[in-house]
Amino acid sequence: MRSGVDTPMALRHQKALIHRNTVMISPILPTYNRAPLTFERGEGSWLITTDGDRYLDFAAGIAVNVLGHANPVLVEALTAQANKMWHVSNLYHIAEQEALAERLVEHSFADTCFFTNSGTEAAELAVKMVRKFWTTEGQPERFRILTFEGSFHGRSSAAIAAAGSEKMVKGFGPLLPGFTQLPWGDVAAIREHIFADDIAAVMFEPVLGEGGIRPVPDADLKAIRALCDEAGVLLVLDEVQCGIGRTGKLFAYEWAGISPDIMMVGKGIGGGFPLGALLATENAAKGMTAGSHGSTYGGNPLACAVGNAVMDVVATPKFLGEVNRKAGLLRQGLEALVASHPDVFEEVRGAGLMMGLKCKPPAGELVNAGYAANVLTVGAADNVVRLLPALNIPDADIAEGLQRLDAAATALGGK
Ligand SMILES: *Cc1c(COP(=O)(O)O)cnc(C)c1O
Repeated sequence: MRSGVDTPMALRHQKALIHRNTVMISPILPTYNRAPLTFERGEGSWLITTDGDRYLDFAAGIAVNVLGHANPVLVEALTAQANKMWHVSNLYHIAEQEALAERLVEHSFADTCFFTNSGTEAAELAVKMVRKFWTTEGQPERFRILTFEGSFHGRSSAAIAAAGSEKMVKGFGPLLPGFTQLPWGDVAAIREHIFADDIAAVMFEPVLGEGGIRPVPDADLKAIRALCDEAGVLLVLDEVQCGIGRTGKLFAYEWAGISPDIMMVGKGIGGGFPLGALLATENAAKGMTAGSHGSTYGGNPLACAVGNAVMDVVATPKFLGEVNRKAGLLRQGLEALVASHPDVFEEVRGAGLMMGLKCKPPAGELVNAGYAANVLTVGAADNVVRLLPALNIPDADIAEGLQRLDAAATALGGK
């Protein structure tokens, strides 16, 4: 059967097969240590594997699936838009984008928004906007941004330089200059550095996410805002993980009664569809004019149709009231869990439905024990396991998740 074997197509195919047999790397760049789980579909706070196993989802795609999986409201918004128009360029007016921007402006400190496809891109623009602001002010020598150690702003060159952790930056230098990391949450350190001539902004997460679920106390947020005002520098808050209802307010900064000049949003805002945004005051955004920034996909009709549907549901006092009530149930359950497993847990911390369990054994062991008990959690730095359920998780699923965490802790403690 020689016929056909020597055709150019067949030869190319053969060559590709031989090549595949000589490489060790997986077709997917191995930058993640993945759990041996493949999910096929989701229903609310549950994920179902290809084998039909059901897992209670306390991870929500790392604070992304704010309304759970396959939420009918979001499915309807997505499919209705998909049937009309997926994408048009930002060369034109986009009605869905304008509607979402107006909603975000109405419900926040901001006067203006730029839409992105991710939190990283929003952080990238935040850094650019800060620099442009000071250039417009005639002080381009002010470019240094004070950040906190242990922060996470994404994986772009600017975002890793901003966070500065060894794990993220190693091997990727030389880094973008202009960032100084201070000890996490250290207001005195900010006071010490902020009055220098080159300081442009202070940038941090009001509730540390990847770094191990640590809320900056309201009094400290107020003090940092006051220091920024006194020094005349910009306050940039990264609410990519803690925004969009996660803490029980639409945005975490609201708890402290302050407002930033610039803020990054992402994760929950698309409810699972890739979407991010940079929010800013008119003053902070004044250097950004036509041609100074752009994005092919950012704010496209499909993403914004879903974003509008998320905001319709989340940005209401009733929904946020329910988030706070559910957060109370979760916290109460977690306090009890920690009390009954002193060998496994050190403490509960967090805000709203953004909770962390600081562990005694390696946190990864609890995450794995969770898989065995069919509950999904997420590790974080500082030996913390994150619990980030959907904001509309039914009370019964909170109780079920707590039972499964208890089983996981029992399995771990018994070793
Ligand atoms: C996840 C995250 C980012 C990065 O968002 P991506 O969508 O992954 O680019 C930035 N900041 C914080 C606080 C985050 O949690």
